Amino acid sequence: MTTVAIITAAGRGTRAGGDLPKQWQMLAGRPVLAHTLEAFAGFRRVLTIHPEDRAWAQTLGGDIELVEGGATRAASVHNALRALAGSGVTRVLIHDGARPLVPGSVIANVLTALDDHAGAAPALPISDALWRGDAGLVSGTQDRSGLFRAQTPQGFRYDAILAAHDAHPGNAADDVEVARAAGLTVAIVEGHEDNLKLTYPQDFQRAEAILKGRRMDIRLGNGYDVHAFTDGDHVWLCGVKLPHGKALLGHSDADVGMHALTDAIYGALAEGDIGRHFPPSDPQWKGADSAIFLRHAMERVAARGFSLANCDVTLVCERPKIGPHAEAMRAALAKIMGVEMDRISVKATTSERLGFTGREEGIAALATAALVRA
Ligand code: MG
Repeated sequence: MTTVAIITAAGRGTRAGGDLPKQWQMLAGRPVLAHTLEAFAGFRRVLTIHPEDRAWAQTLGGDIELVEGGATRAASVHNALRALAGSGVTRVLIHDGARPLVPGSVIANVLTALDDHAGAAPALPISDALWRGDAGLVSGTQDRSGLFRAQTPQGFRYDAILAAHDAHPGNAADDVEVARAAGLTVAIVEGHEDNLKLTYPQDFQRAEAILKGRRMDIRLGNGYDVHAFTDGDHVWLCGVKLPHGKALLGHSDADVGMHALTDAIYGALAEGDIGRHFPPSDPQWKGADSAIFLRHAMERVAARGFSLANCDVTLVCERPKIGPHAEAMRAALAKIMGVEMDRISVKATTSERLGFTGREEGIAALATAALVRA
């Protein structure tokens, strides 16, 4: 099941003040969109942008796919949905770029409801009394029962929402409206007050205060793996292919560093290990690219409402020498995991020629991962 996050950021909204569209303004030292994208790390991410913003978008880093938006929000989402055709996507989460503080728990609520419904979206019931007004005077009252404040991400089964957009004239306020016009049922799940849409200057102050006050749920996991050397001419370590006089023996590509890291992440979630999710008895994982395992672990992180705070991998071997390749390994892992490189450490040590690593019979790897949930 592949879930893609579509982040809408093609609008020109300037009610927030300033010269830049609000999604490019700074929040706690980073563009609003950097926060929003980080909330969806672990998912494949598509960003809809205004054509003039391409240079800005390329400064965001990470593995972000850019799609040029249309004249309206609905047209932008439709472009993104069409761009995903044929790429094996089963579910999409469509999210406002200007909601940078979406809690992981809200994303998890939407995904859980999608198991049983074609669509699901977060909302909050209205607690204030509602009035109608005219020329500065109250002209009537409105019953608030059954009314909700809609939020995003709005989640859908991919085929259903693409068909709904194909059939819609294109002037909808949000994707729930498009989905309902096509007859899809949309479940309401619990939203969060922190999931505010930055619209006015004071919203930025409130968002900064929320960022400062977030209480974090922190989880640590560790992983350990060993693979023996066999005949060959290269090894895969942390997603990088290194020429070497031997190869590592294993059912998959035997990337011992990536296996230790993947197990550290599963460990932090208390969700077992690689062998539980990808049994070695299953022939489909023979020779598999270990990135499949690591991506799955990161999808579980996102699905549980966590994000990766940092991880640290130590490779234990005499040879090959890791130091010259450590930066490439960090970059490869960052790309697979959808997080910034400064959250990823790769280092190496020898065992002073002692033991199986010292005798160059194999390579061992240790990893630690820290996950946080706001
Ligand atoms: Mg292994």
